[in-house]
Amino acid sequence: MTVDHRPRKRFGQNFLRDHRIIEAILTAADLHPADAVLEIGPGQGALTERLLERVDRLQLMEIDRDLAAYWQQRATDQLQVHVGDALRLDWPALLTRPPYKLVANLPYNISSQVLFKMLAHRQLFSCFVLMFQKEVADRLRAAPATAAYGALSVLFQQAFAIRSVVQVPPSAFIPAPKVWSEVLHFTPWAQPQVVVADEVFFHRVVKAAFAQRRKTLRNCLQAAGFAPAAIDRVANETGIDAQRRGETLNLSEFAVLGQALAPYAP
Ligand code: SAM
Repeated sequence: MTVDHRPRKRFGQNFLRDHRIIEAILTAADLHPADAVLEIGPGQGALTERLLERVDRLQLMEIDRDLAAYWQQRATDQLQVHVGDALRLDWPALLTRPPYKLVANLPYNISSQVLFKMLAHRQLFSCFVLMFQKEVADRLRAAPATAAYGALSVLFQQAFAIRSVVQVPPSAFIPAPKVWSEVLHFTPWAQPQVVVADEVFFHRVVKAAFAQRRKTLRNCLQAAGFAPAAIDRVANETGIDAQRRGETLNLSEFAVLGQALAPYAP
């Protein structure tokens, strides 16, 4: 790339320079010419140039006007460029010929918001290959009763098959961040692991269960407005002990709990 660009901290600009990592990301995305890819934050093009070699349709979202201007000059039928904040751009309006693959070395300051955006729009995508701060990746992949297990683990494991692609040292970037990173691959479940009738309510229950980590399920649900009598009834009905802590419940138990609590929504 020809733009002389000093990395901007406020846009989370840590540019990839390790070809082994770039290759691992591209391999995980399993790219074919007929694929359509969305990349958030092309930056100086470490991934973008390689994506252009491999797929017929590439869409970019870039918030940095200088970098976006460079990519706009190169726009073609193959390459579409959207200038702006990926969190504010209207994904369904721009991604009109699904399915897409989302491939991105995400800026860490927006990763959790991108996660929720991808959850909301997952029907537009066949897979996601995304770079996260290692601590966020750990939370997404965590098993019940581990320190990293939380609402993020339950909500994303319910929606996606998640696997680790590669662990990434700080030295893979310029400038080097302070922490390690990890690339994860997500595939939306064709058949969800557990059936959740009302996803919005399910999210409320999961978030409530983890809102106070050291408290029992009973206390957490009460704090979220559920009546003590309703909690007792649901505990009896489901066999899920309300004295347990939220972090001990697995995905299926959360689904059962959500289903049983639905009639008692505060
Ligand atoms: N893909 C490049 C690479 O791997 O070297 C750059 C990755 S850098 C970690 C993040 C990129 O996302 C930067 O280009 C940054 O300007 C862009 N960015 C930051 N916040 C953004 C946002 N809200 N919407 C779109 N792009 C954003």
